[in-house]
Amino acid sequence: MKRILCFFLSLAAAAAFSAKMAFAAAPPKKDGVIFSGTTACGKKIALTFDDGPHPVKTPKILDLLEKHGVKATFFIVGENAEAYPEIVAAEGAGGHELANHSYTHTRFSKLTVAEIKEEIERTDAAIKKAAGKSPKLFRPPEGAYSKDIVSIAEGMGKQTVIWTVDTMDWAKSPRDEIVENVKANVTFGSIILFHDCTRDGTFTLEALELLLPYLKSQGYEFVTVSELIESSP
Ligand SMILES: [Zn+2]
Repeated sequence: MKRILCFFLSLAAAAAFSAKMAFAAAPPKKDGVIFSGTTACGKKIALTFDDGPHPVKTPKILDLLEKHGVKATFFIVGENAEAYPEIVAAEGAGGHELANHSYTHTRFSKLTVAEIKEEIERTDAAIKKAAGKSPKLFRPPEGAYSKDIVSIAEGMGKQTVIWTVDTMDWAKSPRDEIVENVKANVTFGSIILFHDCTRDGTFTLEALELLLPYLKSQGYEFVTVSELIESSP
């Protein structure tokens, strides 16, 4: 009986091992969308900040990232970039990746193809004007993508990126809940969703103050999303 159990246990271990290997070797895309890196990234992870820039919150987040030597990716809303171009320039100068998150942050499912293209183009133009850089990555508002949206973005030279860890900071989660949420879900190659432009009463900055030292102590290395994709075979 013991021998049979051993046999099944070794089968299960072999299956788990091959599943892990398959994941490591699998391309990071699903439906043409990047959700995370692969286990081959090792302990590289990408922090992403959506919806900004915000005139008060974004500079505070930039200061904290700089203090810890952390590079992140900002998914920028075009009309906010036009309102605060100096903050977009500071993000670029700080070595962070600048990415496209639409112009008005409206739901793309109700837009025509021409309107979707305009949302992406106007945001690209605002980021280019502010920081002299053209985004390579795109994230639709609310992460609501479809086959059509992905292929329109692709036609404009953009990779669509979503996330695997939602910090729930947007839902006004308490600081410790955001922290626990990340601790429980972070893994090799994670793309983590934060927001730098939020309603009042959110705890993104407070959670980051605890999370950055914690993630470093666990050996995680912070890279931009493009760097994460490049290190994902
Ligand atoms: Zn958003």
